[in-house]
Amino acid sequence: MTEARKFQAIKGVRDILPPESALWNVVETTARETFATYGFAEIGLPVLEDSQLFVRSIGLNTEVVSKEMFTFEDHDLALLDFMRNELIAQLRPFPSIGVPEQIVAGLNRFLVVAKGEIEHGNLARTPMNATVLARLEGDLNFFAGASYSTKADELRSVAGEAQESLEALQLGIVVSLRPEATASVVRAYIEHGMHTQPGDVKLYYMGPMFRRERPQKGRYRQFYQIGAEVLGQSDHPGIDADVIEMVLVFIERCGLIGHTLYINSIGCRECRPKYVELLRAELTKVKDQLGPDSQRRIETNPLRVLDSKVESEQAVIENLPRIGDHLCEACREHFKMLQAMLFMRQIAYEVNWRLVRGLDYYMRTTFEITAPGLGSQNAVCGGGRYDGLVELLGGPPTKGIGFALGTDRLILALQEAGKGAVAQPLDAYIAWMGANAYPMAVRIAHALRGAGCSVELPHEEMKFKKSLGLAARLNARFAIILGDNEVAAGAATVKRMSDSTQSTVAEKELGAYLRP
Ligand code: AMP
Repeated sequence: MTEARKFQAIKGVRDILPPESALWNVVETTARETFATYGFAEIGLPVLEDSQLFVRSIGLNTEVVSKEMFTFEDHDLALLDFMRNELIAQLRPFPSIGVPEQIVAGLNRFLVVAKGEIEHGNLARTPMNATVLARLEGDLNFFAGASYSTKADELRSVAGEAQESLEALQLGIVVSLRPEATASVVRAYIEHGMHTQPGDVKLYYMGPMFRRERPQKGRYRQFYQIGAEVLGQSDHPGIDADVIEMVLVFIERCGLIGHTLYINSIGCRECRPKYVELLRAELTKVKDQLGPDSQRRIETNPLRVLDSKVESEQAVIENLPRIGDHLCEACREHFKMLQAMLFMRQIAYEVNWRLVRGLDYYMRTTFEITAPGLGSQNAVCGGGRYDGLVELLGGPPTKGIGFALGTDRLILALQEAGKGAVAQPLDAYIAWMGANAYPMAVRIAHALRGAGCSVELPHEEMKFKKSLGLAARLNARFAIILGDNEVAAGAATVKRMSDSTQSTVAEKELGAYLRP
């Protein structure tokens, strides 16, 4: 027998246990009910997607894509993969004289298997794979013909090339666990031709997202989002305001208080690039006063410097040019209208010029909602407009706006505000004794459950003292007591746990008695 081993949840993931899970259900139900009143329908999305979907939409120069995705090559070519890794390992410490026979034999076998898999359609016949196999063929010929007089440099260089070729072979499609879901919604919108539907397409989703982040309070590697998207032909700021109104109504219905809405506009394809260049130039001037992360971002993604929380950089950032002063006419008008639309809905907000959001696809409106009691990870919701993303992913010209709310953080904020556990109500605990009482207990449990009551039925026989004690500890509203007398009378003794009063209730009347 194998030795017992204890397992724990891996880093950054966690279990959501009762009674907290009941609060999650309340939040999710509130989201479904609220979003339905705004005409949104739920979309179920896969957790795995082609990695390129995220690279294209979120952008390569973002932390999420460059560092945080859980990515793997999905294939069932285990043997070929094993042979490839073996060969790479053998090619690395290449000797300076001669070619070990095992490399020639190994490469030969590898090529035979690879070609077989291509014939059987298991290995994709992509141009890249064709090139890789042709190169490896050449390398094999070279190695087979090499002798002790072949120059060491030449051998090493061919070994290096062969290694690179082996690594470049595409065994399958590279997939990632989704780090967010907007890209998936847009993919689905295009894939199912949803642009032909009448009016705006309004979708919401909920579920787990995955990012390899450093875990801390409110930050996990598997976390949950509830999000919504509007895709259509109009970019009227009223849509932005409605989406913001909807998420605020939702979190207020959940019972959150003390939250703040921040908004900003980050311009469009016209004005943003010019601002980014200006920002880059200004940042370059003050480079010495910035930390290593911000220094790197001057090149890769200067807008992200504005996100910096590093204390010593704050004074420098405050003096940088602000995007609000560099918006084009159309973007300035859109942002002004958005504020008018929020005012019309009596929604309080603050403009935060540093709110740029991390992902490449955003343009114009960005917004964020923060909640008290969450420490440094205080953003519960982030969203924005992403006109052009649908086209970038191969769809027709479409405008889009949406948000993603961090469910874990909303729950934490609710708990901090004292809106924590909602204990599952237990209507009745059945305390029975004697072989004849058990069938009656089973019958009553079934009937009461059918009437919508929650019922706890113990299957081991217990003394009444013990089972009534358990009923009290489980917070049951009633204990239904069944012994020989009750069986004979066809009626139960019902004890109201709050005041210990007892009544005799006929079996058929129990449902009405418990739920008048
Ligand atoms: P983003 O997709 O980065 O705009 O995130 C939207 C919201 O998801 C944030 O405001 C957070 O509430 C939540 N969120 C993002 N990353 C995490 C994480 N690693 N753990 C928990 N919540 C997260």
